[in-house]
Amino acid sequence: MDLRQDVVIVGAGGGGAILGIQLTRKRIGTMVLEQALGHPQGVRGEILQPNGQQILDRLGLLEHVPVHAIKPVRYFHFRRVGGKRLCTVDYDMLPKPYNRALVMWPNIVQQTVLNSLEAESPDAVHYGATFTRLLRDEKGVCGVEAEIDGKPVRIGAKLVVGADGPFSSVRQALHIPAELHQYQESYLVAMLDGHEEFTESQYFVGKRTILGIFPGAGRKVYVFYMIPSGALASMKQEGTKALASRWASIYPDLRQTFDTLRDWSQTAYMGTGRVRAKSWVTDGAVLIGDAAHGMNPHASQGRMQAMVDAEMLSEVIDTCVETDDWSASALKVFETRRRQQVTMLQQLADEEVFFWNTGNPVLSYLRDRVFTTIDGNLRLQYQVLTATAGLRESPPFTWVDRVKAAGLWPDSKSQHIPTHV
Ligand SMILES: Cc1cc2nc3c(=O)[nH]c(=O)nc-3n(C[C@H](O)[C@H](O)[C@H](O)COP(=O)(O)OP(=O)(O)OC[C@H]3O[C@@H](n4cnc5c(N)ncnc54)[C@H](O)[C@@H]3O)c2cc1C
Repeated sequence: MDLRQDVVIVGAGGGGAILGIQLTRKRIGTMVLEQALGHPQGVRGEILQPNGQQILDRLGLLEHVPVHAIKPVRYFHFRRVGGKRLCTVDYDMLPKPYNRALVMWPNIVQQTVLNSLEAESPDAVHYGATFTRLLRDEKGVCGVEAEIDGKPVRIGAKLVVGADGPFSSVRQALHIPAELHQYQESYLVAMLDGHEEFTESQYFVGKRTILGIFPGAGRKVYVFYMIPSGALASMKQEGTKALASRWASIYPDLRQTFDTLRDWSQTAYMGTGRVRAKSWVTDGAVLIGDAAHGMNPHASQGRMQAMVDAEMLSEVIDTCVETDDWSASALKVFETRRRQQVTMLQQLADEEVFFWNTGNPVLSYLRDRVFTTIDGNLRLQYQVLTATAGLRESPPFTWVDRVKAAGLWPDSKSQHIPTHV
């Protein structure tokens, strides 16, 4: 064996980097392998939900995110394309100080986390390091082989963590079956320089149309636009001007801002998928984040859930260290604790895909009815918000709530905000 560590983490993304910090702070020998050559770059909007804020705060990292790159946002208005406001979600209903969403500049959270990890533990992260295969002994997985700077390196480890995203090579090497679902719709995201005064998020839903517009710090505007998978080439042929005027036809108030879209390099195209790995653990190995449970971005929780995984797994690893037991049954505690919330969010996101992305007039009518009910029903609004904010594990609506949300039955408790989730 060329190297030996307690834990090898494959992937320094949303989950892997947080787990790296957690473990190195506990002085657990940790190596993070990242195939990219450095910190992530490029266009990529991000909304940091309250549960993600809490995790970064507990790690003392939230205060290190440059304040000029953070925009706290209280109101999210949902509107029908064409103008009518359907519903306003108010984050101020949530417990302080996390009673807001934070709209972040591209990659700023990830860069802050990686900067801290590299400063605290200079040898922990290896860039240009690609996982190639697993090493096994009679007990199970006992390390990895990776290509680091073009050379094969064998690294022995008590635990291998697959934090390598939805198309996880670690998951494949573990032969863990996974259901991979590719959604029909992808997203074009853009970060533009705002002209108009803009402080509240706007989310437009229409006939097979979704346009989210989020205010960023320093007058930046983060745009999130649904496009059918495969439609990018024809959109590019029409040009940026045509796209900007399509956005302006949906939300004329930001016409000047949309006009700053001049080059496709201001945008990024992102496909969307869902991953359901049958199991997340085997003897000596575990999957976290999108490798285990990627979800549609409507949940606004994919990265947050990777971070929650990291926090929870680091607690389970404490026990593994104490007992020197790295078996699947010792690691299963992690999966058992995490499954419920992740499954609930995947289902919630899929329901949102079904109703929000639709072109069907009956479904659109129902969607708009539910939005309108939630607008006036603080109890239901709170329940949905706590799910999106990552503060609950159980589904936001019971079947009775669904009937009430569709406006088919009155809700005598509509103004009661629950005291617990
Ligand atoms: C359009 C869109 C918008 C989104 N918006 C949000 C949002 O606002 N909030 C939110 O919470 N989530 C959002 N998400 C989801 C979020 O991006 C993911 O859920 C999150 O990044 C998952 O984190 P992860 O650590 O599991 O994987 P990743 O962040 O994908 O990290 C995986 C890492 O592993 C590395 N890697 C892969 N293979 C190897 C290998 N063989 N060897 C070494 N390294 C490897 C990759 O380079 C990468 O750095 C969005 C997703 C999309 C598509």
